[in-house]
Amino acid sequence: MDHGLTDELREFQDLTRRFVQKELIPHERAVDAADHIDPALRRDLCKRAIEAGLFGFNMPADVGGPGLPYIAQVVIREQLGQVSMPLQETVGRPPRALLACKGEQRDRILYPVLRAEKTTAFALTEPQAGSDAGQLKTAAIPTEGGFLLRGTKHFISHGDSADVLVVIARVPQEGTDGALTAFLVEKGMKGFSVGRIHPKMGWRGYQLAELVFDDCFVPAANQLGGLGEGLRLAMGNINESRVGVAAHCVGMAQRALDLAVGQAKQRMAFNRAIADFQGIQWMLADMAVAIEQSRALVYAAARTMDSKAGNVRSVVSMAKLSATEMVGSVADKALQIFGGSGYMAETPIEMIYRDARAFRIGEGTSEIQRNQIARALLEAGPASA
Ligand SMILES: Cc1cc2nc3c(=O)[nH]c(=O)nc-3n(C[C@H](O)[C@H](O)[C@H](O)COP(=O)(O)OP(=O)(O)OC[C@H]3O[C@@H](n4cnc5c(N)ncnc54)[C@H](O)[C@@H]3O)c2cc1C
Repeated sequence: MDHGLTDELREFQDLTRRFVQKELIPHERAVDAADHIDPALRRDLCKRAIEAGLFGFNMPADVGGPGLPYIAQVVIREQLGQVSMPLQETVGRPPRALLACKGEQRDRILYPVLRAEKTTAFALTEPQAGSDAGQLKTAAIPTEGGFLLRGTKHFISHGDSADVLVVIARVPQEGTDGALTAFLVEKGMKGFSVGRIHPKMGWRGYQLAELVFDDCFVPAANQLGGLGEGLRLAMGNINESRVGVAAHCVGMAQRALDLAVGQAKQRMAFNRAIADFQGIQWMLADMAVAIEQSRALVYAAARTMDSKAGNVRSVVSMAKLSATEMVGSVADKALQIFGGSGYMAETPIEMIYRDARAFRIGEGTSEIQRNQIARALLEAGPASA
């Protein structure tokens, strides 16, 4: 289907597809089975992603990034969705909150991250504050020369291994609920420890960790952005994260469909390829339609972000809701077409099926996306289409 991609966008698509196939897919099965990615392998793949010109593809030109429009970024993300989570992450996308690094913070933190010399994590969620992140309790108590962080974060991607963590905490302020502020916590800082690693359903080789701050001293030089800017820094990035997740899910679903088509053509039953059965054909057709619907929404959302015309947040939520729900249903049908072998960990289908589930939760659950879409509808009033 022609989605109006220019030749330049098709080049990004091809470049990423080749990188995924040549550099990442060969490691997928071993990383998934071991539930671990060797740090040396990860570093090597990051280096290759830098050489390919893909690492940090979300970064603006003023910090040395390519300054790509969002439509190019989703085209790249879609291709990265064709490989497992820990491997696609080697094509790094530093959190945009790090762009708030000022002065020496840029040399100490931002630029080493962009050169893949340091890894990052973003810590917002807490046991009592998920969708309602504004309720977070981790405190940052002002003290001489900095702050003492006190509290617990959980479900933090790479929280166990990151060199630098952007941590959102509440600085007490008289007469208010406090000022949510971002801090750069570096591995090894006194009072910072990793609690449990959460056992989980999928995303093997990609760890989610609990983080404990027990009067962890963070020097004033590690405050990121201004006092009270924490939630803005966290949420300023939200449209990019959501449309990226949506694009990833489109790529993942496309892979599941391609595998299912291949299987349907070669698997025999009742003396015919199962592709000859209408029951199978209809499943394939429904999968293709659902993928194209979500892809169209993802590209439309990215183009809306680029043009800034229209309700960006709502269209991004539509794309995220559509693609994350769609990939679950497509993976389910693909597994059905594979029959018993789809359930076995011998094809990527089983991995895609379990990995797909998380996307309906992270970066704002499906219900939160619906809230955003409904809010835009109700604010705009009738006849807004
Ligand atoms: C794989 C994965 C990776 C993650 N990585 C990170 C990370 O790196 N950093 C980080 O900070 N966090 C991370 N998270 C946490 C993630 O952001 C939260 O899980 C998510 O925001 C949901 O919060 P919660 O789990 O506390 O669920 P809750 O907020 O408790 O929600 C529970 C249920 O209530 C529903 N609900 C809540 N509010 C409403 C409402 N207003 N209307 C309707 N329904 C509602 C939700 O949709 C959900 O169904 C990750 C999570 C996962 C699964």
